[in-house]
Amino acid sequence: FTHIRQKESIMFDTLTGVFTRAYILERLKEELKIARGARNTCSLLILDVDKFKIINDTYGHASGDTILKEFVVAIRKAVRATDLVGRYGGDEFLIILPTSAKDVAYRMAEDIVQAVRSHDIYVGQQEFNITASIGVATFPEDSTTAEDLFNKADQALYVTKKKGRDGVS
Ligand code: GH3
Ligand code: MG
Repeated sequence: FTHIRQKESIMFDTLTGVFTRAYILERLKEELKIARGARNTCSLLILDVDKFKIINDTYGHASGDTILKEFVVAIRKAVRATDLVGRYGGDEFLIILPTSAKDVAYRMAEDIVQAVRSHDIYVGQQEFNITASIGVATFPEDSTTAEDLFNKADQALYVTKKKGRDGVS
């Protein structure tokens, strides 16, 4: 039982239930191998909650935790069962879209941004509305390695933040 529990904590983020950073990064490498072999595309999204630190500092860490869980509830409404969701750390999440080309990934990212924007979150009586910024990168057109694809998506995320957040680049 302890062994199963240990395995679970290697695979799943205890707060949000999505894959851990270690697991999602391992899966990214695997999915790129599959895409390479099948001469297919594969897209990666990096998501980051906008201005999360202010919420955390104003309402406390426990409220922040609830909001992170609700963030995952919101993004799950927009992703397909075959997409892989993981927490990279803090308020940053990764989504692997196996076989998705950039146009499909971009539209999916826009759907996620919309789903997050329209998801009402309550912590007690307090209502919260959050937004998210997303960066998109696609194998093989943006990069052919996992590490570099991550960097490309991260650069795109930075562009979204610069443009004013609540969007996709
Ligand atoms: P930006 O729009 O630029 O992303 O602004 P931001 O405030 O979201 O930026 P930043 O990434 O610096 O803030 C992330 C914050 O997330 C910092 C930290 O206080 C908080 N945080 C990280 N991990 C956790 C966690 O597990 N629980 C809670 N409640 N807060 C966390
Ligand atoms: Mg943030």
